[in-house]
Amino acid sequence: MPALDPTPARRVLILGGGFGGTYAALELEKVLARQGNGSLEVTLVTRDNFFLFTPMLHEVAASDLELSTIVNPLRKLYLSKLPRLEKKLRVALDWILDLCFAKDFACLTDGRAVRP
Ligand SMILES: Cc1cc2nc3c(=O)[nH]c(=O)nc-3n(C[C@H](O)[C@H](O)[C@H](O)COP(=O)(O)OP(=O)(O)OC[C@H]3O[C@@H](n4cnc5c(N)ncnc54)[C@H](O)[C@@H]3O)c2cc1C
Repeated sequence: MPALDPTPARRVLILGGGFGGTYAALELEKVLARQGNGSLEVTLVTRDNFFLFTPMLHEVAASDLELSTIVNPLRKLYLSKLPRLEKKLRVALDWILDLCFAKDFACLTDGRAVRP
């Protein structure tokens, strides 16, 4: 019989896949690298399936750059930058309607309550 893992997985809920959410995921990737792939379950909820690099948005507005150069699909970005976390990451593409901090969940448009 396989031994039971004595340490329960730590669960993290990331809201939004922009700068804050993506940098939170990058930090968790470093944690996994340090711990040799410890128990961690991460859920990311975001309405957009891309990362927008806003500091160069004005160059797109001025037609100096193509929009595609500042928009990165999350899947592509995470596959290249989060090799460890990507395997432990669940992504829900949806709008967050409300947050319940007392009970630790986010409500989505389809009525689901997502917990860490
Ligand atoms: C034109 C422009 C230029 C900028 N230049 C700079 C700069 O040079 N240097 C600098 O430091 N900062 C700059 N900023 C500011 C920088 O973009 C923000 O500080 C940064 O994006 C904030 O990060 P964030 O994660 O809070 O939000 P965001 O990066 O906007 O990410 C929010 C994420 O949450 C998702 N989301 C939002 N609401 C919901 C919802 N209800 N349900 C589900 N998902 C949702 C969005 O899809 C997005 O993925 C600039 C901003 C703009 C607009």
